Amino acid sequence: MSNGPIYVTRPSLPPLAELLPLLEEMWDSRVLTNNGPFHQKFEAALTAFLEAEHVSLVSNGMLALEAAIDAAQLTGEVVTTPYSFVATTHAVRRANLQPVFVDIRPHDLNIDPDAVEAAITEKTSAIVAVHCYGNPCNVDALRAIAERHGLKLIYDAAHAFGVRRNGQSLLAHGDFSILSFHATKVFNTFEGGVVIAASQAGKAAVDSLRNFGIASETSIPNTGGNAKMSEFNAALGLLQLDRFAEAREARRQVDTRYREALTSIEGIEPLALPDGVEPNFSYFPVLVGEDYPISRDALYEALKAENIFARRYFYPLLSSLPMYRDLASADPANLPVATEAAKQILCLPIYEGLSEADQDRVIRAVQRPS
Ligand SMILES: *Cc1c(COP(=O)(O)O)cnc(C)c1O
Repeated sequence: MSNGPIYVTRPSLPPLAELLPLLEEMWDSRVLTNNGPFHQKFEAALTAFLEAEHVSLVSNGMLALEAAIDAAQLTGEVVTTPYSFVATTHAVRRANLQPVFVDIRPHDLNIDPDAVEAAITEKTSAIVAVHCYGNPCNVDALRAIAERHGLKLIYDAAHAFGVRRNGQSLLAHGDFSILSFHATKVFNTFEGGVVIAASQAGKAAVDSLRNFGIASETSIPNTGGNAKMSEFNAALGLLQLDRFAEAREARRQVDTRYREALTSIEGIEPLALPDGVEPNFSYFPVLVGEDYPISRDALYEALKAENIFARRYFYPLLSSLPMYRDLASADPANLPVATEAAKQILCLPIYEGLSEADQDRVIRAVQRPS
């Protein structure tokens, strides 16, 4: 039996032969970027697929977040979660805004709406929430809070490609949502991302910001940057979109098999799939609790010894990083649930093409840690 390395993910890709004719078109046309034909097609295809009217392709998820924050014209303080990938808080800080960390909820590890409301001051201009692992935030509560206090609401939906809730795209919430198409995400274009705006004006602002703030050959009214997606990434995205349903189904099967095998292990708690949600199975997070024979870190090392590379998403907490830990809101006493989750979380390998034999290696290693 093979003992090759099993990584936490492996990118899905279309057959290379399908990409080559698209590359030939680019070589013939010499149109490589700047809203070329593949960019236009992919943006239109995503607009339909994501059930969102105002979609802007960008070069990655980080720049998508920065563009959304910029377009929302925020000031002062932004209430956000410490339990995410570092891009979430860095995007706030890089816009010269003050992140204010609040705690998460124990059952889904998403930002706690009550804690959000309690943290709002006269300086607060926005909430930046994360649909962690693609599981929806309490979007109704967050919308009500944002409306009550006149705040902008931005979702880092980097994990939520294709997720639907109550029969509707999860991306239909907030003033802006962003997706990442990074290689490690459930849908990838090598690098890439989008901003989904709630309004045409929001999309226009993002479209300007992603292209240096240029309006025409002689008019540059905005201080934009460069976040354009190239023709290569857009062409690849079109092929990936055709394959997404298949890739998702393959992940669903891994998820089901893991759940059946792991749920009965004392001290191992796979994060529940929420009711009313069509998930994308992008991650398989488990909490390693007190009742498990060894600690989360010991399990992580035991898996590594068997050539299985799980990941501690998300550890360390963003509030503990050197540039944030001195903020008053970063005090672990303010973030008890997040602090505990960061100690217990482990994401197990899940991807299209993970063989049943390799799934069994992962399952056995969790059942009987050596
Ligand atoms: C991956 C990720 C990002 C950043 O996306 P990139 O495309 O890698 O820049 C932002 N937020 C979260 C939660 C992520 O997981």
